[in-house]
Amino acid sequence: MDDNRKVVGRFAPSPSGRMHLGNVYAALMSWLYAKKQGGSWSIRIEDLDAMRCPRHFADEIIDDLRWLGLESDGEILYQSERAAVYLEYFNMLAAQGLIYDCFCSRADLRASSAPHSSDGTPIYPGTCRRLTPAQHAEMLKIRRPSQRVHVPDEESFFIDGNYGDQRCNLQRDCGDFVVRRADGVFAYQLAVTVDDALSGVTEVVRGCDLLPSAHLQIFLYKKLGFNPPRFRHLPLLTAPDGRRLSKRDSDTNMDYLRANYTPRQLIGIIMHRAGLCGAGEELTLDEAVGMIEI
Ligand code: GLU
Repeated sequence: MDDNRKVVGRFAPSPSGRMHLGNVYAALMSWLYAKKQGGSWSIRIEDLDAMRCPRHFADEIIDDLRWLGLESDGEILYQSERAAVYLEYFNMLAAQGLIYDCFCSRADLRASSAPHSSDGTPIYPGTCRRLTPAQHAEMLKIRRPSQRVHVPDEESFFIDGNYGDQRCNLQRDCGDFVVRRADGVFAYQLAVTVDDALSGVTEVVRGCDLLPSAHLQIFLYKKLGFNPPRFRHLPLLTAPDGRRLSKRDSDTNMDYLRANYTPRQLIGIIMHRAGLCGAGEELTLDEAVGMIEI
């Protein structure tokens, strides 16, 4: 990316429940990296699936972040209100001949012997890309298609701020991916790329479960004529038994954390989990910014 751009960071939670320690860790780190570089930071609510994301979850997240001292510098965007914007960019991909209808259900994909990508999702074998016009017309009578973007048999490369060099072959390791679901809802990869690009985001700091997605997002950035941001993926916090934290763990959710700790204690806990300070320290946000190394 062009490094003269003013740093813009963001936190983009999916409001399907109360945040847990892992979400707050990602929020705090994205804020600290942006502020350390004199940048701005915004919140974007990723409620594409409006049915699963009632507004009160988003309100709680915003309130929890404010309690910690993290306020959005820009307007808070809600993805559920932005379908018209995503459509414009979807059409741009379609005009390049990159989009095709896919009639495969999740069950079809699970049943296929397609290899799986590093994040465990089956790599789409391109079945519907090869339908003849007659087969396509037949399928349209029985099922509403989702739409996939066709990725080339090409290497993708970027340097992650935390994990270093990242390479994959887009077709072999990722496969054609869904940009609009059969119910018409635009999919995560498209929405996140369009929103980050239009908000001028220069730094994406988030959990490493999304590391493989960065290749797909960089591909979309290029096809849509945008400049990709830097990516920094964070190790996922685990429970003492090694499990990934989940919104169901009651002793790490924000309800419990707010009842048992002050903001300064929680910032200290997160910085300690990130290996940036000793156990039991209490920190202000300014003190935590001082501990970040770029
Ligand atoms: N909404 C995603 C999540 O909560 C994060 C998306 C992103 O940071 O790119 O897992």
